[in-house]
Amino acid sequence: MPHYDYQCYDCGVLSEKRRNIAQADDPFKCPECGSENTKRAIAAPAVQGSLDPQNLKGSGKADFDRIVGRDAERRWEHINGEAAKKDAVRKETGQQAIGRKSDGSYAPVPQERLKYRDAAYKEFDHARKTGTKIEH
Ligand SMILES: [Zn+2]
Repeated sequence: MPHYDYQCYDCGVLSEKRRNIAQADDPFKCPECGSENTKRAIAAPAVQGSLDPQNLKGSGKADFDRIVGRDAERRWEHINGEAAKKDAVRKETGQQAIGRKSDGSYAPVPQERLKYRDAAYKEFDHARKTGTKIEH
């Protein structure tokens, strides 16, 4: 099964999930903040199987390196650019938790969402320490 990336538009986190191709665009719940305001990020699915670099020779190997290199470079530039935009909003608002909105701009994460996240962390931490199960 291929890996897909999902972008959360509330907290800005990019998450990865292994899914059937048929389910690639099914709703995805952000593991960071629980929001379903997410969308599959357009990126090449993780290379696997027949495209294993170990099995490639000659021009196939060169193509593989070029494709992976270009993809990594593109992602890195994107990450740096987005981080700079987030930092600008942090400076401007004095808030630490910055989320990405559906229009691509950044804004402080709404207080209710932070509460939801903190509560989820506390619940998880409590369950871990006491060895109990989280019931939902
Ligand atoms: Zn999120």
